[in-house]
Amino acid sequence: MAVFATTFGRLAERLSKGKISDTLQSHVGVVPNPISKHSKELKPRIEDAKMFHSVCPYCAVGCGQRVYVKDDKVIDIEGDPDSPISGGTLCPKGSASFGLINNPNRVTKVKYRAPYARDWEEKPLEWAMQRIAERVYQTREATFEEVDEENRPINRTLGMGSLGGATLDNEENYLITKLFHSWGMVSIENQARI
Ligand code: SF4
Repeated sequence: MAVFATTFGRLAERLSKGKISDTLQSHVGVVPNPISKHSKELKPRIEDAKMFHSVCPYCAVGCGQRVYVKDDKVIDIEGDPDSPISGGTLCPKGSASFGLINNPNRVTKVKYRAPYARDWEEKPLEWAMQRIAERVYQTREATFEEVDEENRPINRTLGMGSLGGATLDNEENYLITKLFHSWGMVSIENQARI
C-alpha cells in the first residue's frame, strides 16, 4: 500500500502543472526514457543556419516555407508554421523544393533549334536573353500602332502577348505588367498566384 502511495505521489508530481512537458520529453508513459550521450550531443542539421521566410514556388496555394541557408548554400527547406495558409505543412511536391535547388540535373542551358534545322544546339542563357530582346524589339517596331482608324491615340501592339505561370509571385507579376504595358502590350495574362 505504501509502495503504491509513493508511486502514485511521484506520478502526480511528474504530471503536475509545469512539469508535464519535461515528463513527456523524458518518459515513455511513466517509465523514464534514458537518453544516450550520443543522442544528447546530437545537433539539428539547421543549427547555425540563417532562416528566410519564403513561399513555395509551385502552385497557387502559396504555402509558406522556411529556407535555411549556411555558407551561401540552401541546406534545408521546411514548412513554415507561421504561414496562415499552410500552418507549417507542405504537400509532397512542396516538400521536395530542396531537390529543385540542389539538383545536379537542373537544366542551366538553353536548347535551341534553328529554323529548318533538325538538331538541337545548346546555348548559354545570356545568348537566349539577347535573342529574346532582339525579337521583342523587332516585333514591337513592326507592329506598334500609334492611332486607330479614326486617328485616336492607342499606342499599343497586338503583335506580342504574355502568358505567365503559377510560379510567378505578386512582385514578379507587378514588374511584368509594368514592363509589358510600357511597351504597349495589352495581351497579358497570368495564372492565379498570391
Ligand atoms: S506545398 Fe504543394 S500545395 Fe503548397 S504551394 Fe507548394 S505545391 Fe502548392
